[in-house]
Amino acid sequence: MCGIFAVSSAKDNIIDDLFLGAFYLQHRGQKYCGLSTWAGDGIKIRTHRGLVRSSFTDDLTGMDGQMGIGHTSLKDRQPLKLDSKMGEFTICFEGNIINAAELTTDLKKKGHSFYSDSDIEIVAKLIAQGDDFVSGIEYMADKVRGSYALVILSKGKIYAARDKHGFRPMIIGKKDGAVAITSESCSFVNLGYSIVRDVKPGEIIEVKEGEFETKKEIHSDLIQYCTFEWVYTANVASTIDGQSVDIARRNIGACLAKRYPAKVDIVGAVPNSGIGHAIGYAQESKIPYDNVFIKYDYASRSYTQPTQAERDREAKLKLIPVPAKITGRSVVICDDSIVRGTQMRNDLVVKLRKNGVKEIHVRVACPPLKAPCLYGVATRSKSELAANEKSVEQIREYIGVDGLAFATLEDLEKSIGKPLNQLCCSCWTDVYKV
Ligand code: SF4
Repeated sequence: MCGIFAVSSAKDNIIDDLFLGAFYLQHRGQKYCGLSTWAGDGIKIRTHRGLVRSSFTDDLTGMDGQMGIGHTSLKDRQPLKLDSKMGEFTICFEGNIINAAELTTDLKKKGHSFYSDSDIEIVAKLIAQGDDFVSGIEYMADKVRGSYALVILSKGKIYAARDKHGFRPMIIGKKDGAVAITSESCSFVNLGYSIVRDVKPGEIIEVKEGEFETKKEIHSDLIQYCTFEWVYTANVASTIDGQSVDIARRNIGACLAKRYPAKVDIVGAVPNSGIGHAIGYAQESKIPYDNVFIKYDYASRSYTQPTQAERDREAKLKLIPVPAKITGRSVVICDDSIVRGTQMRNDLVVKLRKNGVKEIHVRVACPPLKAPCLYGVATRSKSELAANEKSVEQIREYIGVDGLAFATLEDLEKSIGKPLNQLCCSCWTDVYKV
């Protein structure tokens, strides 16, 4: 998973907006970050291992410009810089190319060499075959199977594109004399950008001098927005394809309260991503919401650590139970999803029992996860998913709680406000439409 930010201004230096735009996408990837700018005298690029703020402190000198692109990543260093017949360009990409091996073999046969096995190299080399960037993106879109959102910085212009199924989010914002395009609108709010609209699935946009223009729309009958963005991935301050993440999470919590009521003293969350669901559950059930766990601010986001061992360690460090709220009380705990169930079993439930909780009822904001994501969000394998071999009752027994219930796909459809056939549900159905 990655975050992408692009900005162009008709008059001002964009380096502050670019830096902060990338910073506000930090939750989408913490391993690498990078910025690239253009100011009329060539394209500059700087990438780091680490977080945006700690990596780029005192390191923005010489990066001034009127347009730029930025990236946060869990996987690889971006932007990537290439020289081509259209001239130099830098590119940031998010997604997953399912037919990457086949495309790499084809490109090698045509004489291309590769220095990595990352999807961005394939995408960049396909785009570079075009007569211009728009035809290059069209050519790439025709060849790849999978999901992508990308931005390209060339000399004097930015291009942005979203795959024709709309898997990865991408949104356009504007403020006086400047236009920005980002993975998530949470990066607009404090920078003063207002949302214009989402980039449409299949749309190719050109940006220059603080204005944007649609250059092409690649049509598909199949729209597949990533449902997991609303359930877990995105920041609660974001609005994705017309639906607020915060409101969607509250709606899911309310659906859970209606479908699976529980007689408990308080409703709490596995923070942070369970909070919206828990507030929705509490409001609907009229049971008070309270702090059952607090997330220690100096721990990082466990899901986006690259290895399972690192994820487990971070998960254990980050959540502290609040004894004053749980001793002698029965609780509903809302969580975004259950992957293996080991964190719930070995950490959360142990902590609650040690602190004298009376009963634990878990409510999960999506159906049982049954399959890997092929579209660039999660790297989990089928065999590590609890629901792959266990029924709901067996999972309840395994994690050691008094009650367990999952939201349904119909709950997600209702909560997100989009027809189910436009929502990717492969995580839960094990059916891949692309
Ligand atoms: S499989 Fe799941 S995580 Fe992947 S795109 Fe679909 S809904 Fe999102």
